[in-house]
Amino acid sequence: MARLYDNRKRILVAGGAGFLGSHLCDRLLDQGHEVLCVDNLFTGAKRNLNHLHANPRFEFLRHDVCFPLYVEVDEIYNLACPASPIHYQHDPVQTTKTSVHGAINLLGLAKRLKVKILQASTSEVYGNPTEHPQTESYWGNVNPIGARSCYDEGKRCAETLFFDYHRQHGLAIKVARIFNTYGPRMHPADGRVVSNFIMQALRGEAITLYGDGSQTRSFCYVDDLITGLVSLMETGPEVTGPINIGNPAEFTIRELAELCREKTGSESELVHRPLPQDDPRQRRPDISLAKTVLDWSPEVALSDGLDRTIDYFKKLMAAARH
Ligand code: NAD
Ligand code: UDP
Ligand code: UDP
Repeated sequence: MARLYDNRKRILVAGGAGFLGSHLCDRLLDQGHEVLCVDNLFTGAKRNLNHLHANPRFEFLRHDVCFPLYVEVDEIYNLACPASPIHYQHDPVQTTKTSVHGAINLLGLAKRLKVKILQASTSEVYGNPTEHPQTESYWGNVNPIGARSCYDEGKRCAETLFFDYHRQHGLAIKVARIFNTYGPRMHPADGRVVSNFIMQALRGEAITLYGDGSQTRSFCYVDDLITGLVSLMETGPEVTGPINIGNPAEFTIRELAELCREKTGSESELVHRPLPQDDPRQRRPDISLAKTVLDWSPEVALSDGLDRTIDYFKKLMAAARH
């Protein structure tokens, strides 16, 4: 449904009230597009969108992507899915439904409208990886019946559906494999490591290292990630992905804890808690493909990104006190 008079598109962002989705809405609106944000507010928050409601090019629709959706748009981003382990394990059946039924409905919508559709997939499709760093050609090491499986296998099945709609129906698809991303608007209580450590440090509570803290992750600042997603969407139909988007700088969880403590000036002690089941030992994206195909690589170092995130959580805490 191309507009006749200008390059402005009407873009659907499913999961747009969440952490990444709300930043994506911002970016697309900044580019002059219209945004239809669809979200059931399971883990997303209206406060992430408060600044957008006055924008006449922004529209919010409360809707669960497990159900069919009939709207008219020019492009679709599918980010609808809880992303933090405590949230996606809260109702695991619903998590798989969201990934699988949500993908089917949005792919059906894209097929009817003949528009591009991007899937927010995840490094979790690599499971507990035996290859390091992870390239897109690695098939992964995933437990199909564990506590994380609802998320990992749901996302893997969504990738399958995207590629089958591409092969069977000629749909223009884009699959981004997103690695751990952090920044302002993460939910302070969503249990992910960056928000947990910053909140614990700011409150002077003990910082909880799961296991011995020697497991690694690579942390991408949200602005970099959004640039990567939008660049992927802008590629021609020959680019389908999957393509890793993340920051290859790798840190142990203990290093992250120490950095958060140092940056907040906190005296919180580090304590150990049991390591969750199937917690990946190591994770780092090989981003050669993103560099070549998208001419993209992250620009914000962890130290700078943490400063901005700490600032956000400080303001959130101050607002809660008033
Ligand atoms: P988030 O939990 O903040 O956002 C997810 C959004 O989806 C929320 O607003 C939630 O309300 C919405 N949602 C959930 N189920 C829905 C449903 N059935 N119908 C409609 N909306 C629904 O998480 P996020 O970090 O912003 O993640 C966004 C996407 O990116 C997710 O698909 C996630 O799997 C993927 N991803 C994120 C990361 C990361 O580090 N942040 C890493 C890999 C992949
Ligand atoms: N669908 C939707 N919006 C649309 C078109 C389809 O939500 O505009 C849903 C529809 O409910 C269907 C799913 O997407 O269950 C898959 O659509 P597809 O056309 O691939 O399959 P079919 O309708 O043939 O089962
Ligand atoms: N983690 C931790 N303490 C916390 C929260 C998480 O040590 O309070 C660890 C967790 O065990 C994992 C890493 O930090 O090894 C990243 O966890 P997160 O839930 O943020 O993301 P994911 O495991 O999905 O990469």
